[in-house]
This record gives sequence, structure tokens and C-alpha cells, in this order.
Amino acid sequence: MRIRTHRDTCIGAGRCYLVAPELFDQRDDDATVVVLAEQVTGTGLDKAREAADECPTRTLYLTEE
Ligand code: SF4
Repeated sequence: MRIRTHRDTCIGAGRCYLVAPELFDQRDDDATVVVLAEQVTGTGLDKAREAADECPTRTLYLTEE
């Protein structure tokens, strides 16, 4: 699965970095999300789903490709 973002809705809340720092970081200038590993499987996929669920603005989502 691939991690996608609606970047214009990210408010830099940081929930994704807290849940999965191996998958997400934040931009230095505005704290919005940076996806570190777009393709995820196994445990990484579980973490990506958890981060998407935690995101208050539904910025993160997963697609098949
Ligand atoms: S949890 Fe959502 S709103 Fe917060 S930084 Fe991550 S993607 Fe952006």
C-alpha cells in the first residue's frame, strides 16, 4: 500500500510523527507532514493506518498503488 496525503489540509498537528516516526517527519518551515516511506507493508502498514486514524484533519490516506 502507498501512503498519500492531502497536503493542503495538514495543520502540522504532529500526531502522525508521534505514532510512526519511521514513516513521517515534519517540514522545518511550517511543520506539515513529510512522508518518509511511501510504500508500506506488514507492521509499517499497521502503523500507517494508525497514523491515518489519528490524524485530526484526515490528511493521510492509503491507496493500492
Ligand atoms: S497528523 Fe495529520 S494534520 Fe497532523 S501533521 Fe500528521 S498529517 Fe498533518
